[in-house]
Amino acid sequence: MNSRNYDIGIIGGGIIGLATAMRLTQEHPNQKVVVIEKEAEVAQHQTGHNSGVIHAGIYYAPGSQKANFCSEGNGILREFCDERGIEYEMCGKLIVAIDDSEVPRLEELYRRGTANGALGLELVGPERLRELEPHAAGVKAVWSPNTGIIDFKQVSQAYSTEMRERGGDLMSNAQVKGMARSNDGIHIETSSGDVTAKHIINCAGLHADKVASMMGVDIGVRIIPFRGEYYSLKKEKESLVNGLIYPVPDPSLPFLGVHFTKRVTGSVEAGPNAVLSMKREGYSKTSFSFGDALGTLTYPGFWRMSMKYWKVGFNEQYRSVMKGVFVKSLQTLIPEITGDDLHQPGAGVRAQAVDRKGQLLQDFSIAETNNAIHVLNAPSPGATSSLAISRYIVDIAQKSFSLN
Ligand SMILES: Cc1cc2nc3c(=O)[nH]c(=O)nc-3n(C[C@H](O)[C@H](O)[C@H](O)COP(=O)(O)OP(=O)(O)OC[C@H]3O[C@@H](n4cnc5c(N)ncnc54)[C@H](O)[C@@H]3O)c2cc1C
Repeated sequence: MNSRNYDIGIIGGGIIGLATAMRLTQEHPNQKVVVIEKEAEVAQHQTGHNSGVIHAGIYYAPGSQKANFCSEGNGILREFCDERGIEYEMCGKLIVAIDDSEVPRLEELYRRGTANGALGLELVGPERLRELEPHAAGVKAVWSPNTGIIDFKQVSQAYSTEMRERGGDLMSNAQVKGMARSNDGIHIETSSGDVTAKHIINCAGLHADKVASMMGVDIGVRIIPFRGEYYSLKKEKESLVNGLIYPVPDPSLPFLGVHFTKRVTGSVEAGPNAVLSMKREGYSKTSFSFGDALGTLTYPGFWRMSMKYWKVGFNEQYRSVMKGVFVKSLQTLIPEITGDDLHQPGAGVRAQAVDRKGQLLQDFSIAETNNAIHVLNAPSPGATSSLAISRYIVDIAQKSFSLN
């Protein structure tokens, strides 16, 4: 049973867990590392259902971890991909003010992005806007040439391969069901047998709060799942979009508003919205888990959040069930889009940490407890930032776990 004893157990084989495991095996080759993932393959949840955008770091409050990790992550992610031949495309992004009322917020985004070090940002007028995206509406825009597209599943698989080549283990089909401290470390009960690790790194995404509570840790937040629903443009309409077309977002919310996203495959997605999900991994409108719904509805922070954002929440739910309303939102960016141009609905689910006061955590949140590190909030741009986040986590691990 010796092979089942590890120095570090990472729970969750999404992009953050795998990036962390890869870096640990690189910087601390004497540590025995295992990634424990409940699915048969890595990157099946947030990482495998995201928009595939390499963000440039425009939106985030200067000095925040989102701003710092995104601008660092953008560069080192691309270096990683260049060295390994992973395909990506720097197609650029246009953030569009649809009328004069949005211009002050757009200009603030330009100032923020510049302060955050987003490279090559330009404020452009209607002529240049139409040159970049001939079918987009709008009076003014921020052009970000340092934004690109990639397949984050492929990136995660590369992290996983590299981690295993350096001696790390991946245990798949292994759902962590419980943990208990013993003299040997932390005993981890999984659906594929038990393992022991001296230290834990909790990268369980939509289940990060549950995994923390298995360790008896009160992390002070609850993960509330928000589904992001989107459509694809029909093949013959893909030429309406050259790259990425985004609206000016509501600064009080961590979501960016429905937008057009070109994918590395050449397809174009329209969305995603942000609706409350009654299941943490609920990818359809009818997905329901009694346990997840009860967990959300009995959390005081959920009701405080609902009081604050009931109007936004109601509008998002309404737009989710009324395709015509969804199309109307898209038409503010590309007026000639019609409902007939959209097909193949899909969805991802975001893990949004909410505190007891009902505040949506805006920044990344990574906390340390006895022998463990917990990634509590890793929303977008978490995938872009994965290598920078892994550097931060490994630095904490080095000190806190006394790694040599
Ligand atoms: C709709 C959407 C669009 C997004 N768009 C972008 C984008 O364009 N660009 C960008 O940079 N970021 C984007 N993001 C954010 C990005 O996808 C996330 O920040 C990132 O994927 C988080 O990775 P993770 O490893 O923390 O979580 P996940 O990918 O969710 O991985 C967590 C893993 O833990 C496993 N797990 C959970 N519980 C257990 C357990 N008990 N036992 C074992 N395993 C367990 C899960 O199966 C899962 O594989 C988007 C996110 C969403 C949802």
